[in-house]
Amino acid sequence: MLVVMDKTATAGEIQAVVSAAETKGYQARTIPGGERVAIGILYNKGAVDASLFMGLAGVKDVIPVTRPYKLVSREFQPDDTIVRIGDVTVGKGHLCIIAGPCAVESETQALTIAKLVKKCGAHMFRGGAFKPRTSPYSFQGLGEEGLKILARARDLTGMPIVTEVMDYENFDLVEAYTDVIQIGARNMQNFSLLRRAGQARKPVMLKRGLAATIDEWLMAAEYILEKGNPQVILCERGVRTFVHHSRNTLDLSAVTFVRKESHLPVIVDPSHAAGRRDQVIPLSQAAVAVEAQGLMVEVHHQPDKALSDGAQSLYPEQFERLCRRAQQIFNLLQIP
Ligand code: PEP
Ligand code: MN
Repeated sequence: MLVVMDKTATAGEIQAVVSAAETKGYQARTIPGGERVAIGILYNKGAVDASLFMGLAGVKDVIPVTRPYKLVSREFQPDDTIVRIGDVTVGKGHLCIIAGPCAVESETQALTIAKLVKKCGAHMFRGGAFKPRTSPYSFQGLGEEGLKILARARDLTGMPIVTEVMDYENFDLVEAYTDVIQIGARNMQNFSLLRRAGQARKPVMLKRGLAATIDEWLMAAEYILEKGNPQVILCERGVRTFVHHSRNTLDLSAVTFVRKESHLPVIVDPSHAAGRRDQVIPLSQAAVAVEAQGLMVEVHHQPDKALSDGAQSLYPEQFERLCRRAQQIFNLLQIP
């Protein structure tokens, strides 16, 4: 339930609503809006009796919340969340392009790619230091050494960095180095990781699970917001289907649906969706056309030598074309 306060409601009147919720054993979350404050009522087992709040001073309206997710929903917060990472903005009115290799392989590799993608127009640099690999015999990432290299790439280029945290044990370490904490598809329902991300003071990028429904994805984001971190970016990266022509199936309808349901920014990773380089530019164009608020793309200066995901990594010149086209499509969509 959402209790919407009058524009003129006083701090005392807001507190009275919070207290009324707490006496019933609920929790109340104050959600500051542009014009007025709303108070979200959480942890109710059954329906909340609206009359509990309706008669209180300063209360304008009491709205039942119909969705299972609350804090991430537009019912709770109609205005878009805008996530800021230094000078980079993710959300409404911006197209954020994140690029870099699948994995940090060496300092030379990461710095070479960072400089190239920056020149082409990337806003943030990605690269895995801890890699979730299907096979235990595949390259697992450089660990902390990889994080140090990412930090050097940030120093060199000024781009904030995005890297994945794979487990609870390494959370503090990854959080200390990175600017955006990525939670990968395989961990979308790792609830202890999600709760820990909710305590982080850095933005979190939450990728959609391999076979996650939208409800499951948004409920995973709810875990992070519920623990107190409102800076969440959702990333659609394709879901597993029966097809063989691509690694996964990029679900672009999820972008439009989630943007309607949730105030959180939504970006698209066409690389892990496609699994092959020839689909990455067309899918990126389509993602921008459906108003995804950013792209995360794998780029390598020598894809044939990449230790992971070489087949889907763009050559730098392809990435340069992608940036130009994505920006043009984005500009076109700014026409009212
Ligand atoms: C990645 O972005 O490095 C990655 C492993 O992606 P996903 O979790 O979407 O598979
Ligand atoms: Mn990859």
